[in-house]
Amino acid sequence: MAVKRLILNFPAHLVDQPVTYKLIKKFDLRVNILRARITPREEGKLMVEISGKKSKLEAGLRYLAELGLAVQSLAQEVNRRQERCIECGACVSICPSGALAVERPTMHVSFFGDKCIACELCVPACPYKAMEILF
Ligand code: SF4
Ligand code: SF4
Repeated sequence: MAVKRLILNFPAHLVDQPVTYKLIKKFDLRVNILRARITPREEGKLMVEISGKKSKLEAGLRYLAELGLAVQSLAQEVNRRQERCIECGACVSICPSGALAVERPTMHVSFFGDKCIACELCVPACPYKAMEILF
């Protein structure tokens, strides 16, 4: 089972396309819509978690690309607001991927965006609202 958390960017002419229906019916994928911002006849954005067999997921992503949707990893939208972070470390043990980690010997809490899997666990865990999803 493969899982991807993505942001699908719909240009105006594709907003009315039954994209999630096709992913489910044609590619046998599970599509969980996490957030949506779509206005008819304008550009739209869907934050989704798509899961299924790896080969089907890859085929589904090819379908989205051929359709003309811009697809980006949700992890690219995870952001730490440095000015709010006091490096308390509360997020470190909750982060499952090591994207938030204490560096030794300085003990600075660093955010490694390339390791982030966009699970969003750090967002409610941070008492200073330093972690955010840009959507
Ligand atoms: S929990 Fe928030 S304030 Fe504390 S280290 Fe993590 S991002 Fe910084
Ligand atoms: S979204 Fe998840 S993986 Fe990414 S930094 Fe936060 S807790 Fe870690």
